[in-house]
This record gives sequence, C-alpha cells and structure tokens, in this order.
Amino acid sequence: MMGDPLGSFRVSSHKQNREGLVGAQSRQYRATNNVWTPSSFGIYSAASAWDKFRKSKPTVGWSKLVWYNQNIPKMSFILWLVIKCKLSTMDRILTFASSVPVTCVLCSSATESHCHLFFECPFTDGIWPSVLFKCGVPWLRLPWPLFVMWATSCCRGKSLSSIVLKLSLDVTVYYVWREWNNRRFKNSSQPISTHLSPPLDFD
Ligand SMILES: [Zn+2]
Repeated sequence: MMGDPLGSFRVSSHKQNREGLVGAQSRQYRATNNVWTPSSFGIYSAASAWDKFRKSKPTVGWSKLVWYNQNIPKMSFILWLVIKCKLSTMDRILTFASSVPVTCVLCSSATESHCHLFFECPFTDGIWPSVLFKCGVPWLRLPWPLFVMWATSCCRGKSLSSIVLKLSLDVTVYYVWREWNNRRFKNSSQPISTHLSPPLDFD
C-alpha cells in the first residue's frame, strides 16, 4: 500500500511553521520585554488580572459547605445567597418598600425572614428534619447563623457522608426557595409531602 508521498513533508512543514510561530512569539515577547508583574510567571491571564483588581478577603469558614467538587452550582448559588442573607425575603423588601405583605408565603403565620424560612417555618421544619433523618444525622433546632456553623462542622472533610449531607442541604434549600417563588409569583403551591417524595427532579 502506497502512502502519501507528501505526508512526511506536510507534517514536517506544519511542525516547522508551528515551531517558527512559537519562536517568533517568544522572540517578540523578549524584544518588547512585556512582563505582567502581578503574575509570578510574568505572563498575563484573566485569572491573574482578576486576582490583581479584586478586593481579596479572608476565606470564610463556611466556604467548603457551599463550594465543593460535587456541588450542583445552581443549588449552591442559592445556598450562598441564603448564608449571606441576600434572598428577597419580605423583611428585606420592607426596608425599601412600604405596605408590602410580610407574612410568610409558606405558612402564613409569621414574618418572613431568612431565619424563619431556614428552618423555623412550620413548612420547612417539616422537610429538613426528615432529610436529616434519612442522612442519619440528629436535628438540632438552631437559628440560621448558628445552623451554618453547625452544618460547617458536620460537613467537614471529603467523606461520602459529608458530601451527601452537603448535597442534601443544597437540595433542601433550593426546593424551599423554588416553592417560595412558585407561591409568590406563580400562584402555585405543592404540599410538604411532594417535597419529601423521592426522586427529586433537578429542573
Ligand atoms: Zn413560614
């Protein structure tokens, strides 16, 4: 079988062109002496630019509770907002809009706040302990800031049980907030039993 008589030439030519281009870039780099000093390599990158211009702060203790390899980004993002108390709960909206209904849309029995939704509300109080029970973890009724500290210490490490617990928290918070949105904006509601019935869909 005959091979392509020009094959080796094409490969060699391509290699030379490629090496020539790299060499030219390298010579140009040295000639212009452009060194990106914020980077230890002296070469510009988007990551090094971001590190240069952002205001860096010490890593918070709960960062691994939210951001980890197995996380589901859209769910972790909601958990991050909850931990930062940045969801649009009615107690926050009341600070810049008067005459808004502040009653919890999930239970209709208390003022809506982050602490109430996670997990003092009778609606969510019926979900989270049940999820914990399935994980084999006892439920401690704690205000949200203390709950975050407790969850952080419980989910330390990379063991399977730690990852399952973190995912369980992600999913629970995400579905509570989705139910909140459905009731607030779509006039649609589902009972607690629906949220406890596996399998959960991840729409
Ligand atoms: Zn409630």
